[in-house]
Amino acid sequence: MQRSEMKTEREKILEVKDLHTYFCDERAFPVKAVEGLTFHLLKGEVLGIVGESGCGKSLTALSVLQILPPGAKIVKGEILFKGKDLIGLSQKQLNTIRGTKISMIFQEPSSYLNPVLSVGYQVAEALSAHTGQSIRDAMKKARQMFKEVGIPDPEQRVHNYPHEMSGGQKQRVMTAMALINEPDIIIADEPTTSLDVTVQAQIINLFKKLLKDHSSSIVFISHDLPLVSEIADRIIVMYAGMNFEEAPVDVLIKDPKHPYTKKLLESIPKESSSWQKMKTIPGAVPDPARKPGGCPFHPRCDYAEKDCNQRIPFMTQVDDTHFTACYHYEKIKNSNKQNI
Ligand code: SF4
Repeated sequence: MQRSEMKTEREKILEVKDLHTYFCDERAFPVKAVEGLTFHLLKGEVLGIVGESGCGKSLTALSVLQILPPGAKIVKGEILFKGKDLIGLSQKQLNTIRGTKISMIFQEPSSYLNPVLSVGYQVAEALSAHTGQSIRDAMKKARQMFKEVGIPDPEQRVHNYPHEMSGGQKQRVMTAMALINEPDIIIADEPTTSLDVTVQAQIINLFKKLLKDHSSSIVFISHDLPLVSEIADRIIVMYAGMNFEEAPVDVLIKDPKHPYTKKLLESIPKESSSWQKMKTIPGAVPDPARKPGGCPFHPRCDYAEKDCNQRIPFMTQVDDTHFTACYHYEKIKNSNKQNI
């Protein structure tokens, strides 16, 4: 059975099909940063996207909103939002979707907040720009949103400038900005990376609360598998711009069917771990300009066979909800234990 034929009760609010996003330079071969990525997001679902730095997670998020960095281009694929392909829409059409239907929370809030405007104004402006409401009226909703995302004393804090807020508070401001237009989808790209562990936990709790209070669907992107597993319903594991494994979070953790996922799980520090005991994944994510032939994981893979450097593995269905891109996944026996 093909993945596209799977019966799901909930609506697929976002479908990314065979996405190829390359960095193109006329003088050189294109750099295939995202290569043939396919996934979907159900209404009301939290989909985690996990992988090491440089695996194409953020570029995938930017591709969905088509706010790509210089040189990057979607060369193939479909991005269906409620069944309508976003690729090929004009900037004007895309602007009616960005921020209102699909919002993004970025990794480093300081880079996206204007230092010379109050945070309340910036949140209100996100609403005013899309609805035509006056800033004065939009400010009332901004205050409500500040309260909702747990910023104390919202009446006063809306007047603060970004430098007057902590990292965690700035991320709450970004969350308020992403939510103020009540979007259908929120894409959160490493939203807790720059925060300390305690504030990370607070932001995750905030997301959980917002999930209860709103009907948004969330794509939660992070290199941190334990963190993602706290909030996601389903996870896809990316490597070298490709989807390596996809499964509901419990299944992926208890019974991974891709050697890379297994390695990621084994590298999670256990409570008793010392630095000496911690396992790491030997080698590094390949440079997208120099990916090894065949399976891009083969130089780091304990299960590699002769054929692994010959052909790129495509997604194979393991059971109803579990997919892996590995020729030899059956070799991964039940050595898997509860890792998280
Ligand atoms: Fe390892 Fe081969 Fe599977 Fe790639 S296809 S993950 S190299 S066993």
